[in-house]
Amino acid sequence: MCRNCVKESCPDRGSCCLETGTYLMNYAGCCQCNKKTDINNIDKKSENDVDGNETVTYKHVCQTCDHVIARHEYTFSVDDEFQEYTMNCVLCGYGEATVSILPDDPRQQRLF
Ligand SMILES: [Zn+2]
Ligand SMILES: [Zn+2]
Ligand SMILES: [Zn+2]
Repeated sequence: MCRNCVKESCPDRGSCCLETGTYLMNYAGCCQCNKKTDINNIDKKSENDVDGNETVTYKHVCQTCDHVIARHEYTFSVDDEFQEYTMNCVLCGYGEATVSILPDDPRQQRLF
């Protein structure tokens, strides 16, 4: 991981969670070769545990010199009521989102 290639280290992205891709707006240029060419995303791995949680990781590397700019991590998990997404990357930033998987249930109001 490298903090010299990015404008802002791990910016707050609110509820934005990228499972793939690159936040190029935050890329200042490669600190090793001093070029600002495209970024390659390599070594993509996806792991699932028994609870249905998923973790996706990959590396952002400089297309010119293979310098590793950042390691990207994306997680997805489900519990009874919510789906949760997180993203953690020096380049793409930190994001977190929670989505309810239950529709609002009007019947609950009549159970008295
Ligand atoms: Zn660097
Ligand atoms: Zn480079
Ligand atoms: Zn990233």
